[in-house]
Amino acid sequence: MSMSMPRAASKQQTIPLRSRALRITGIYAIVATLWIYFSDQVLFAVFPDAADFTRWSVVKGLAFVALTSLLLLWLMWRAFGAIEKSHAALRRSGSDLRELNVSLEKNVADRTRELEAALIRARAADALKSAFLATMSHELRTPLNSIIGFTGIIQQGLAGPINDEQRKQLGMVRNSARHLLDLINDVLDLSKIEAGELRLSLASFDVRETIERISGLVRPMADKKGLTLELQIDGALDTMHSDRRRIEQIILNLLGNAIKFTESGQITLIAEREPAFRKEADQEPVEALRLLIRDTGIGIRPDDMTGLFQPFNQVDSGLTRQHEGTGLGLAICRRMAERLGGTISVESEWKKGSEFSAILPLEWHETTGN
Ligand code: ADP
Repeated sequence: MSMSMPRAASKQQTIPLRSRALRITGIYAIVATLWIYFSDQVLFAVFPDAADFTRWSVVKGLAFVALTSLLLLWLMWRAFGAIEKSHAALRRSGSDLRELNVSLEKNVADRTRELEAALIRARAADALKSAFLATMSHELRTPLNSIIGFTGIIQQGLAGPINDEQRKQLGMVRNSARHLLDLINDVLDLSKIEAGELRLSLASFDVRETIERISGLVRPMADKKGLTLELQIDGALDTMHSDRRRIEQIILNLLGNAIKFTESGQITLIAEREPAFRKEADQEPVEALRLLIRDTGIGIRPDDMTGLFQPFNQVDSGLTRQHEGTGLGLAICRRMAERLGGTISVESEWKKGSEFSAILPLEWHETTGN
C-alpha cells in the first residue's frame, strides 16, 4: 500500500506534462507549416522578382530560426529550471530524512540503554528483597517460636505459679505471636511463589486419608462454634501424585475460612473425581480431584468478589473487623493451585453462604506444564 502510493502520485504528475509537450509540439508544427506556406505566398506577391524573392526568403528563414530558437530557449529555461528546483528540494528533504533517521537511531539507543539500566536495578532490588525476606523470616521466626514456646510453658504453670489474670494476658501475647508468625510465613510463601522459587515436593499419597486428617484438625474449631462438618468423599478417589503438603495447606485454608466466616449451620466438604479437566482450552484433558467446600456463612457481596484472590484483601478490613486473618490465604491458595496445574474459584451469595471449588490434577509432574 505504502509502496504503491508514490508511484501512483508520480504517474498522475507525468501524464499532463507529457500531453502538454505533445500539444506544444503539435501547435508548433501547425503554426510552422502555415507560416512557411503563407509567408512564401505573401513574399512572392511582394517580390515577384526571383532574385529578390530568394534574398528575402533567406532573411525570412533566418528570422524564423531566430524566433523559434528564442521560443525554444524560453521553454527549456522554464522546464529545466523547474527540474533543478525539484532536484534541490529532493536533496534537501533527503538530508532532512537522514538527520531524522540519525536522531531516531540515537533515541532508540538511549532508551534501550535506560531500559537495560532499569532492568539491572530491578534485578538487584529483587535479589535484595529475596535476601531480606529470607533473613527477616529467619531472624523473626526464631524469637517468635521461642516466645510462643515459653509463654506456653509459663501459662501451664511449669515455670512457677501464675494467677488467672496473668494466664489470660499470656494467652493474648501467645495469640499475637502466633498471628505474627502466620503473617511472616504467608508473606514468605507468597514472595517465593511470585519469584517462581516455590519448590514442589511431588510424591504419591492417599487422597481420602489426607482429606480426613486435615478435616480432623479443624473439627474442634467447628465443634466449638456448634457447626456441623460433613465430609462426602467419592469412593473412586484413591491415590494422587502431587505436592501433599501444599494440597493440605489449600484444604486447611478453605476449611478454616468456611468455619471462620460461618456463625451457624453446616460446612460440607465434597471430594470427587473430575474425569476430564482442562486448565486451558488447548490442553489435553486430565483426571483431577474436585474439592467443593460449602458453608452457610456470611457470604460475599458481588462487589467484593473481584479482589478476593488478591494479596492482603480482606472484605471486612476496618477497625471493627471481627475475624482474624492476614488476607493472604486465598491469594496463596490460588497461586499454589495454579502451580500444581489446577484452579480455585468461588460462588457466593451474601448472607447465605459460599462455595469454594478447587480442581487439582490427580497426576502432576513438573514437566506436565507450568
Ligand atoms: P484471611 O486471612 O483474611 O481469611 P483470606 O485470603 O483467606 O484471608 O480471605 C480473604 C477474605 O475473603 C476474607 O477476609 C473474607 O472477607 C473473605 N472470605 C474468604 N473465605 C470466605 C468464606 N468462606 N465466607 C465469606 N467470606 C470469605
